[in-house]
Amino acid sequence: MKAHIAVLPGDGIGPEVIAEGLRVLRAVAARFGHDFELTEAPFGGVAIDLHGDGLPPATLDLCRKADGVLLGAIGGPKWGPSAPVRPEAALLRLRAELGVYANLRPVKVMPALRDASSIKPEVLDGVDLLFVRELTGGLYFGRKSREADRAVDECAYTVGEIERVTRVAGRLARGRRGHITQVDKSNVLETSRLWREVTTRLVRDEFPDVTLEHMLVDSTAMHLIRRPRDFDVILTENLFGDILTDEASMLAGSLGMLPSAAIGDGRRGLYEPIHGSAPDIAGKGIANPCGTLLSAALLLRHSLGLDNEAAAIEAAVAGAITQGARTADLATAGTTPLTTREMGDAVLAALSGG
Ligand code: NAD
Repeated sequence: MKAHIAVLPGDGIGPEVIAEGLRVLRAVAARFGHDFELTEAPFGGVAIDLHGDGLPPATLDLCRKADGVLLGAIGGPKWGPSAPVRPEAALLRLRAELGVYANLRPVKVMPALRDASSIKPEVLDGVDLLFVRELTGGLYFGRKSREADRAVDECAYTVGEIERVTRVAGRLARGRRGHITQVDKSNVLETSRLWREVTTRLVRDEFPDVTLEHMLVDSTAMHLIRRPRDFDVILTENLFGDILTDEASMLAGSLGMLPSAAIGDGRRGLYEPIHGSAPDIAGKGIANPCGTLLSAALLLRHSLGLDNEAAAIEAAVAGAITQGARTADLATAGTTPLTTREMGDAVLAALSGG
């Protein structure tokens, strides 16, 4: 297969983890006989420095024409809250421009990493859940205003925005254990009451084989670490999903392990690890690249329909971890952590059966 993948390394550890993603994608192309054209472009802080714009027109054009987009991470102290142009705004704009409204964040606990989590191992056995987070609505995209002694962020959702992401959750739940937990704060928020109404009607009418429960976000935060294996698909609005997925990353052992996919109505998607640019470890070559490698796997599966190739990357990451490969974020006392590059080597070795 011939495919064009736009690659946006971004800032901080972004270029370090993306370098490993590129090596793994090239290895997959060679092993399975594909022709992946991998084109890099500036995005985020690095693009602000070069072009004064976090999402330059040429980068947007490249992403629009690509079959899929692989992103590292963006942001950093250099472009902090008082900077006139901010990298995070470029990411929100890219998601909106690509029309990717559903963010999929799978959380699986690899048995070999039971001890890397701060949660008791017996609570982690069998955890396999999938967040479906609404990505282009809510507080992040509402009207904003600022006066000297007052600030406003508006939270708005339309029926259409809730319906389309609920359909994604319904389709994915069908391929899993058939259960959706919809998360909200309906005891105080009007938008949350709309979420409850719309999801109840849509799941009843279009997914009668899927079960739906509603859960308040505060209680979800508690149950996620108390009984995580009870969750199957967790459907949330934008802000709650952002927060809960960072919490859930602790089940998997590290923020560096978790991939994500942002998809819309077509096949094209935006794939990135859920972590940020990690300025505290950037440039040291010690970041965990696994979240990026697993994001590349999601790209192959969702945007290119290459299930076997995606599964090969996932198995190679699991294989390397099972063999004992650990970057610093996963290493336990007494073990020597691998560098980002060495972790990439371990996954490549597992990929080629070595
Ligand atoms: P962060 O995710 O960058 O880092 C949080 C902690 O996790 C840090 O201690 C970091 O060292 C560690 N960590 C993160 N990824 C890791 C990896 N792959 N391997 C090992 N350790 C890892 O979050 P933050 O520090 O709150 O944010 C830093 C910057 O990233 C900010 O500018 C923020 O806006 C930005 N950010 C970007 C994205 C994105 O690009 N999608 C997402 C979140 C945050």
